[in-house]
Amino acid sequence: MEEKSIKTRTIPLIPLRGVTIFPYMVLHFDVGRERSINALEEAMVNDQLVFLVSQKDVEVNAPKPEDFYHTGTISKIKQMLKLPGDTIRVLVEGISRAKISDITQETPYFTVEVEEQEGFKEEETNEEIEALMRGVLEAFENYIDVSNKISSEVLLAMNEIEVPGRLADMVASNIVLKPTQNQQILEAFDVTERLEVLYKYILEEIQILEIEKKINSRVKKQINKVQKEYYLREQLKAIQKELGEDEGLVEEVDEYKQQLKKLKFPKDIHDKVQREVDRLLKLAPSSAEVGVVRNYVDWIFNLPWKKETKDRLDLKVSSKILDDDHYGLEKVKERILEYLAIRQLSKSMKGPILCLVGPPGVGKTSIAKSIAASLNRKFVRMSLGGVRDEAEIRGHRRTYVGAMPGRLISAMRQVGSKNPVLLLDEIDKLASDFRGDPASALLEVLDPEQNNTFTDHYLEIPFNLSKVMFITTANSLDTIPRPLLDRMEVIRIAGYTEEEKYKIADKYLLPKQVKEHGLKKDQIQVSEKAIRDIVTYYTRESGVRNLERQIANVCRKAAKRIVEEKVKTVRVMPNNLNKYLGKKIYSFEMMNEKDEVGVARGLAWTAVGGDTLSIEVTPMKGKGKLSLTGRLGDVMKESAQAAISYTRSKVEEFEIDPDFHEKVDLHIHVPEGATPKDGPSAGITMATAVISALTNIPVRKDIAMTGEITLRGRVLPIGGVKEKVLAAKRAGIKNIILPMENKKDADDIPENIRKTIKLNFVDHMDEVLEYALKRGENNED
Ligand code: ADP
Repeated sequence: MEEKSIKTRTIPLIPLRGVTIFPYMVLHFDVGRERSINALEEAMVNDQLVFLVSQKDVEVNAPKPEDFYHTGTISKIKQMLKLPGDTIRVLVEGISRAKISDITQETPYFTVEVEEQEGFKEEETNEEIEALMRGVLEAFENYIDVSNKISSEVLLAMNEIEVPGRLADMVASNIVLKPTQNQQILEAFDVTERLEVLYKYILEEIQILEIEKKINSRVKKQINKVQKEYYLREQLKAIQKELGEDEGLVEEVDEYKQQLKKLKFPKDIHDKVQREVDRLLKLAPSSAEVGVVRNYVDWIFNLPWKKETKDRLDLKVSSKILDDDHYGLEKVKERILEYLAIRQLSKSMKGPILCLVGPPGVGKTSIAKSIAASLNRKFVRMSLGGVRDEAEIRGHRRTYVGAMPGRLISAMRQVGSKNPVLLLDEIDKLASDFRGDPASALLEVLDPEQNNTFTDHYLEIPFNLSKVMFITTANSLDTIPRPLLDRMEVIRIAGYTEEEKYKIADKYLLPKQVKEHGLKKDQIQVSEKAIRDIVTYYTRESGVRNLERQIANVCRKAAKRIVEEKVKTVRVMPNNLNKYLGKKIYSFEMMNEKDEVGVARGLAWTAVGGDTLSIEVTPMKGKGKLSLTGRLGDVMKESAQAAISYTRSKVEEFEIDPDFHEKVDLHIHVPEGATPKDGPSAGITMATAVISALTNIPVRKDIAMTGEITLRGRVLPIGGVKEKVLAAKRAGIKNIILPMENKKDADDIPENIRKTIKLNFVDHMDEVLEYALKRGENNED
């Protein structure tokens, strides 16, 4: 090391592009520019010293004095190697930093006068410098760690340097900094300043390197994953090809992915489906599992997640469609229009759910269809009859073999629109057992607060049912679970009278069937009487379902005759009706031939509507035993008991043996035992028959009755008044006894029927007997 004193010397200069050379640094660089080569040659002939400076802008080809920094390094040329072309490779070693004080020549090469700065002691040290040195070394160690580019031997070498200025320069030459930063270090003649600047820049650099490293590893990971997947997929394709298995799966999966994108699911759902789709590729194409996954994916892509129809809310249209499709039913239609109006006002589909209640074939389904048509919605029906397993509604988990979604999701797939009218048919036939409660699943479905995320066990992802308009049907309200019933607005549709049935057949069913059988209007004529006969002798029902079937039969036979026998017009009349429908199925069930003892006619209300049933009581000597036959339910048995108790309170009035209940066995029988009968409404009929049997007073043949009885003989109201009255009318009954409290229901009975049947309303059993027994005409037989 030379003494640091101002030494001025004249020396050739070479501007370097993109490198800074520090003292003690050994460096290769190539020289190509003519001026630089000239400078080199000049140096070689003298003391091999050049002054190396950095160019401020590497792009400049022929730099002027202002284009390079004026502080640089006096360096010694150690080696020169001529490379092909006009380039010379030089090896130099930095000696000391110096500053230009004058530029004495610019061509054929730069010559400058430089001053080595005096007063800066490279080797002098103090506590601050000591501390800085340690800091720099530590930082350098870190730098080596993160940069991964420098061998740790360099660190060892650095640790041995004791001269602070030298340490700074050596470290600086070993790390990669920006040219301006290098220049700044070079210009720091003061050692403390040099160490400080260097320290700062190493720390900055470490930070940047760390961030860089993080980014790198992230990008690398992504690239790796994509590459790996691609690679594996290609391999799989190759394997499948080799095995002769179809490559179709790959295409299929791609297609699924396209579809999935279009559905725009929320992220978690998207990912879930994506996982399933991806599973397809991992499975052997011939394995059974592929079918399972495919089935699942297929369900997902065939559900109406987004598809919906645009609502039409126009009461006039609704009214017209309802009228066009249905005869009569004025009150029902009115209530439906009210219901639709309220929905229209509230603009939401929340609110109660319509429940259409009535016997089969009265048009519940077809009304629901009309509602759908009028709202411009699609229609789908889902039967609940006999559903006893929750899984039928909510589906089976996929861990089950042969698992499927529940009926609800199936219906949604079938209808292909997320806002259909969905008819839940026969909600009163829901059962429940150990396999879970389908009713509670249904409650969730119908609850507007919950049904926007209805989750089928099979799909495992929520489906929004909130736009569905639910309509339910039931034959009777008795068996509908209470919580369900509370959510519903009940509209009752009673059975039709014979007159109504005739009109429906004439105006709706016949034209419909004629059309459906491809007949022209003038090819078939069915006389009015023939239709009425079909109603009476070939059907027995509250609705018109069988009637429609019989009419269809007529049309089919007619079509056959037209084709086979070349008949021009088929005329169906009462006298040739059996040619089309065979023998009459039902004889006209008439009232009893004569007044009889121990036989009373009751009125029942069954699933097919109203019916009459005769109750027969036979007393026999015995011990007061009561036997009941004819498939009577428990409630009916209790009615019989109540009837007997009432009779015992009347022994005096009717001169019955007061101990009859200990001496006489009573056999109560209700014929036509095939249909189970139950309900309390046969109470008064039972009591009438018992008293008639015990007193030998006959019951009038033209009277029928219905009403519950209490032990004291009070008569309580019953259901199904209209159906019961219609049934009585069919049987030719002229008088009907009904509980007083049912008087309000009489409004439902058509005027023409009320004209021919007398309705007697009673409060007490005494009045029943008054009407029913033919007293004073005891016939002792
Ligand atoms: P439900 O659902 O009550 O069992 P449907 O709706 O299936 O009854 O009705 C059976 C058939 O009777 C359908 O073809 C229906 O169009 C017809 N129908 C029922 N009531 C009427 C009516 N009032 N006017 C015209 N057709 C009717």
